[in-house]
Amino acid sequence: MKAVIIGAGVSGTLTAVGLARAGHDVEIYERAPQLRDGGNGVMVWHNGTGIMKDLGLRLDGLGQRIDAADVWSYDGRPLMRTDMAEIADELGTPGLGVMRGQVMDRAVEALPPGVLRFGKKCVRIEEAGTGVVAHFDDGTTANGDVLIGADGYRSVVRRHLVGDVLPRAMGLASWHGTTQVPIGLGSEHVVPTYYGRVGLCTIHPVGQGLIHWAFEVPWTGALRHIPAGAETADAAERPVAGSRLATLRKGFGDWAPPVRELLDALTEDDIAVAPHLLHRVAGEWGRGRVTLVGDAAHVVPPRIGMGVNQALEDAWVLSRTTAAADDPALALRRYEQIRRPRAKRIHSTARMMQRANPLLLALRRTRKGVNGTKMLRANIVRGSSFLNDDVR
Ligand SMILES: Cc1cc2nc3c(=O)[nH]c(=O)nc-3n(C[C@H](O)[C@H](O)[C@H](O)COP(=O)(O)OP(=O)(O)OC[C@H]3O[C@@H](n4cnc5c(N)ncnc54)[C@H](O)[C@@H]3O)c2cc1C
Repeated sequence: MKAVIIGAGVSGTLTAVGLARAGHDVEIYERAPQLRDGGNGVMVWHNGTGIMKDLGLRLDGLGQRIDAADVWSYDGRPLMRTDMAEIADELGTPGLGVMRGQVMDRAVEALPPGVLRFGKKCVRIEEAGTGVVAHFDDGTTANGDVLIGADGYRSVVRRHLVGDVLPRAMGLASWHGTTQVPIGLGSEHVVPTYYGRVGLCTIHPVGQGLIHWAFEVPWTGALRHIPAGAETADAAERPVAGSRLATLRKGFGDWAPPVRELLDALTEDDIAVAPHLLHRVAGEWGRGRVTLVGDAAHVVPPRIGMGVNQALEDAWVLSRTTAAADDPALALRRYEQIRRPRAKRIHSTARMMQRANPLLLALRRTRKGVNGTKMLRANIVRGSSFLNDDVR
């Protein structure tokens, strides 16, 4: 079977690895002139690292092992501790804080040669009986037995399947970056997140002395990623007029010491802005010989740290359902059927988490905070359950 994949982001490259390992020919078509392996730190949870191992990706030297996720109130009272080392002992794979680009680089090094094609913006899809044709803006085409849309939240393939439905803006944005900031975290293996009424601040070690930090603040702008230091032509896309750093210092400047120290060390150009988006998980996200993976199918806001993990889960399931399938269309429907309930649960959790600040702050009354290990374990194990199933 030959698979044409649109988009060489995290999900496109991982899906290509999975499909190639399942014995298929793959071609990835990316609109950018080269790999877009920028971005900040992301979490790969225990089931995600299990999938990476299973797909044959190298884990050595990748990111930073995370042993605990601690939730604090803005003034430094413990609200919740999640013991990720305990889950790692049980499942045999670690949770990692890692740069987005590193996950892509590990995927790309596992690809057969000649798979990636750059400068190919897909503009139209044509379903043609036993095949699919992708049309590009330079007038060329690519034919496949199946076509996988891995082209992010503004997906052209999604538009072909379900119409032009943009994800919903959640009214929040992450103001974030990755820097070598010398602040006292106590351990390089712990992710602390501070919650207050105005938002949150989370700090992830991602290895090599780097930390990814993110502040969540209200957002009323248009749907567009704005890189650090960039000015946009359209004033409506600016999150606020004036200095981003001054805005953060005003909102978070009197929080617990690591947050204050972080804000003292940052500069204006360190801060990129990414609005929080959420897709309604479509009842059907594929048809015939076409399907979607990653953000094209189910974008969620970063608060639950599931963007890359979902891409991994998609890639893994798709590789399994297509491995021995005689009918490519049926294999794609089986993949969607397995992934949809999980994506829907993550969608519900994401909605709930956007409103969780007052609930979490109510835990300030507890002396030591509560133990969140069981909750995370359930989420990860649920996300891994299909790993143990025969999904073919
Ligand atoms: C440059 C970049 C930086 C990011 N940084 C972060 C971050 O710091 N933190 C975070 O949580 N998430 C980040 N994300 C989003 C994150 O990668 C996704 O949420 C998640 O990993 C799922 O990935 P994806 O491959 O489905 O989508 P994406 O990573 O968005 O990749 C989609 C790819 O498809 C390509 N594409 C889009 N349309 C077309 C088309 N018509 N034809 C051909 N190719 C097309 C895009 O250029 C892109 O390379 C970033 C995404 C990008 C593109």
